Amino acid sequence: MELINKSFQSVLPTEVVFGKNIVKEELANKLKSLSIRSVLLVSDAGLKSTGIIDDIVENLTENEIKVVTFTEVNPNPETQAVHKGREIYIHGRCEAVVAVGGGSSIDAGKAISVSTVNEGDINNYGRGKRSIAGPIPPLFMIPTTAGTGSEVTNVAVISDPERNKKFVLASPYLYPTCAFIDPILTYSLPQKFIAATGMDALVHSIESYVNNRAQPISDALALEAIKMLRRNLPVSYADPSNEDAKAQVLLASTIAGLSFSMSGTALVHSMSHPVTAWFGVPHGLANAIILPYVIEFNLIANYEKYAEVAYLFDDSLRQLPSYQAAERLIDCLKEFSRKLNIPKDFSYLTIKVTKESIDNLTIDALNERGTFPNNPRKATKDEVSTLYQLLFPQAK
Ligand code: NAD
Repeated sequence: MELINKSFQSVLPTEVVFGKNIVKEELANKLKSLSIRSVLLVSDAGLKSTGIIDDIVENLTENEIKVVTFTEVNPNPETQAVHKGREIYIHGRCEAVVAVGGGSSIDAGKAISVSTVNEGDINNYGRGKRSIAGPIPPLFMIPTTAGTGSEVTNVAVISDPERNKKFVLASPYLYPTCAFIDPILTYSLPQKFIAATGMDALVHSIESYVNNRAQPISDALALEAIKMLRRNLPVSYADPSNEDAKAQVLLASTIAGLSFSMSGTALVHSMSHPVTAWFGVPHGLANAIILPYVIEFNLIANYEKYAEVAYLFDDSLRQLPSYQAAERLIDCLKEFSRKLNIPKDFSYLTIKVTKESIDNLTIDALNERGTFPNNPRKATKDEVSTLYQLLFPQAK
């Protein structure tokens, strides 16, 4: 990459603390060191049933930190949960937000924090609308899925079920104060989420690396995350008892988050958000299914970088001209996804999908202002519609 005519910024404002048992050992100390004595703990019912939340509450309470819990976050958190969380935060006189869970709980925690100092409907603060005022209450993020990287990013994705839309809160104020990366907390993650969230991290790394806004620092992080995921995600999926593979995948997802928080994501995300909003497909799974289709479309615009990714999957591809190596990446990724039992398209959905659905998805994808312009190949409406038709062969 030529550097001389580039200018870029890299900001890594979130303190990342990694280690087995680190939450038990360090969370209370960190809060106390910042004179925080009462927190809102945000999570979801699934995670509560694992016992993880009770352990954290007990640990904080023993350390004389008051904990108010809000465990009503649903996957793809909705505006309503954010508004309810705000009331509980204010009523409980909390001083910070601790979010424990996957991207849904972490994003809900960020949005609740935003909503405590930004009045009215959280919908009004989506990208392109009102700007977010800050500072917002400090955020302490504890991921329990290994995929979204949200614990280190400056965005939160919220769903508006009335309009079947996901919208993004984006502001430097959303960078968490501290992310606790504790592999132990992912041990109870069901296998299908290991696959979907791990693929989410892979999509983040690849989309960050080929992004129009990519720069050397985000590239270095993206390549390292891809290497770690390529080696460890299939092992973590196939052998849930392999603790080191789980640790590697979890840290890779954080590294991928650091990368895309500098450069952004692109067309895979523009297309997956509407699929989740209209059909409820989990975020990571939607990304994983869309990835090879978008790469095939994008290759021509950035094949040298796609070739670099291909070499990480199969070093022997270095013998080929880079365009051919880049083309082979599609097969490598399809094979990788097959090992994780990721479907090849959305034909498995039992929900009715019509031509009108394809139009709705297409319009929404084109309106994804934070990701669509970052794509290495400029996509037209017809081209996005064609990609959706390939992904939904059942559409009539
Ligand atoms: P999720 O948070 O929706 O969790 C999925 C399920 O896994 C839930 O039912 C949860 O209870 C369960 N779960 C989580 N951890 C568990 C554990 N250790 N043991 C047992 N069960 C566990 O899934 P996700 O994929 O992590 O997050 C998806 C959300 O994150 C989407 O809304 C997506 O848009 C958002 N996202 C945000 C960013 C960002 O930077 N803000 C990036 C990527 C994705």
